[in-house]
Amino acid sequence: MPIASPAAFVAPFRITDGRHFRLADHAPDSLGGHDLSKDEGKALLEEGKVRLKAMQERLYAADSWSVLLILQAMDAAGKDSTIEHVMSGVNPQGCQVHSFKAPSAEELDHDFLWRSVKALPERGRIGIHNRSYYEEVLVVRVHPDFLAGQRLPGNGVGRKPGSAKFWAERLESIADHERHLARSGTAVLKFFLHVSKEEQKKRQLERIDDPKKNWKFNARDVEERAHWDAYMAAYEDAIRATAAPHAPWYVIPADRKWFMRLAVMQAILAEMEALALEFPKLSADAVARLGEARTTLLAS
Ligand code: ATP
Ligand code: MG
Repeated sequence: MPIASPAAFVAPFRITDGRHFRLADHAPDSLGGHDLSKDEGKALLEEGKVRLKAMQERLYAADSWSVLLILQAMDAAGKDSTIEHVMSGVNPQGCQVHSFKAPSAEELDHDFLWRSVKALPERGRIGIHNRSYYEEVLVVRVHPDFLAGQRLPGNGVGRKPGSAKFWAERLESIADHERHLARSGTAVLKFFLHVSKEEQKKRQLERIDDPKKNWKFNARDVEERAHWDAYMAAYEDAIRATAAPHAPWYVIPADRKWFMRLAVMQAILAEMEALALEFPKLSADAVARLGEARTTLLAS
């Protein structure tokens, strides 16, 4: 049975008002109350791919909205494989993926939103940001030493870099930016793929023990586990400050990959359905011209 209402399916994970948000209320191994087996979940993902492909065609034809998907997660939660599995049915011409690593010298010469703005999707397209400006209130907050490289003027309009007010202002800049994007026709969807510390350990061990996964192993990712609680606090604060109806956060349980992918798919479908995308309607003149062209073609 296909999922009749993607919006209802993902309602337990959708945050649009962060005031009372607590990460502790979201279990990484939850199925959101759905009674589903892995096989059922996988079949539903395949159905979702067909729906998403059709929806993306409408998005492209309507040429008005664009969709920005932001993916954030701890190491090994499965950002890359989610992109692969969820987007594999979509026409590659209609979507653009950008991965954001530690900023380059050129990027550090600009404000922290600059590189994301350059990578925003055009109208009619889906843009996927694998990490984003949220790193600026996550990894940079956990490791404030990064701020020195940003060379912010300590005597400027903003608060002292690294102070509590400074982080609050950064989050405010992000929230303002996303409101601006939404007003301009970019639907912003933010995903936190929420993996547990235990499951991450299991996956990192697999990367060490399985020769085929060795290439994925990065010793720094293991070191980052020491800052787990600081990361969780930073995520919670970021979600509280930036969840909004026009830029919802989806806190997706990530301990079961099949469910994570299905939930991300349903969230995208739900948000795109809400855009009420229509194929452009031709004017009476254009319809008349089509008729003329038809006559000409038949006579040629
Ligand atoms: P993979 O899944 O392949 O490991 P990845 O996204 O983890 O992909 P890496 O090159 O391993 O890619 O890591 C990118 C690193 O860049 C992450 O540690 C991330 O925190 C860091 N990073 C991203 N944006 C910023 C930023 N604005 N400031 C500092 N570090 C950043
Ligand atoms: Mg990495």
